[in-house]
Amino acid sequence: MSTIAANLQAVEATIQAACEAAKRPRSTVQLLAVSKTFPPEAVLEAIDAGQRAFGENYVQEGVDKIAAVAKARPAHLQNLMLEWHFIGPIQSNKTRPIAANFQWVHTVERLKIAQRLSEQRPAELGPLDICLQVNISGEATKSGAKPEELLDLAKAVVQLPNLRLRGLMAIPEPQADPALQRAPFARLRALAQDIVKAGIHLDTLSMGMSGDLQSAVLEGATIVRIGSAIFGARHYE
Ligand SMILES: *Cc1c(COP(=O)(O)O)cnc(C)c1O
Repeated sequence: MSTIAANLQAVEATIQAACEAAKRPRSTVQLLAVSKTFPPEAVLEAIDAGQRAFGENYVQEGVDKIAAVAKARPAHLQNLMLEWHFIGPIQSNKTRPIAANFQWVHTVERLKIAQRLSEQRPAELGPLDICLQVNISGEATKSGAKPEELLDLAKAVVQLPNLRLRGLMAIPEPQADPALQRAPFARLRALAQDIVKAGIHLDTLSMGMSGDLQSAVLEGATIVRIGSAIFGARHYE
């Protein structure tokens, strides 16, 4: 078995254990394999091991990889549906390739970006699934909408014709102690509940990475974004 296949099995076991502890069906948590900085070959290995959903952070790298993977897939896998999620910071001049190549965007933090994604979404692809990124740890991270701005942003985003608002996403400050990991995830869940109470349908909480996946599942994550636990340590150039 390849290292990536073995890692996927281990991550799967962790998700299953967390689901059992949370008394949630395994089917309520989607594993997003974060392939940033890894080559198309690594993605193909994960596909061979049964993984279907992949996350990318950098527009050009992601677009190139999506094309390379589509080209390299062996004939018997050509008809498989893959799902590509954009999970990196978004510059407004890069929205077009995101809207044209990805099925999901987790990192919408302001209306202008959402408007551009909606305008630029090719009609034949259907609506783009969107999460609003929330700055859940205050000053520690700069990305994400402020919690107090979130409801107005959600109300505006649901009006956009070519987007489908699915939920919220956060990247809390890394916290090694599991006892301290859950509070920010609980805050994100509460923010989502506030939006649902205001009459906006949400079904997604994108939260949890390699180091805090169990805590995230315990607090209701529906998508966990896992990179290094599947593909190994990243080496940035
Ligand atoms: C890189 C990244 C991940 C994966 O992180 P790991 O710690 O390697 O699992 C998840 N989410 C986002 C937004 C990322 O940028």
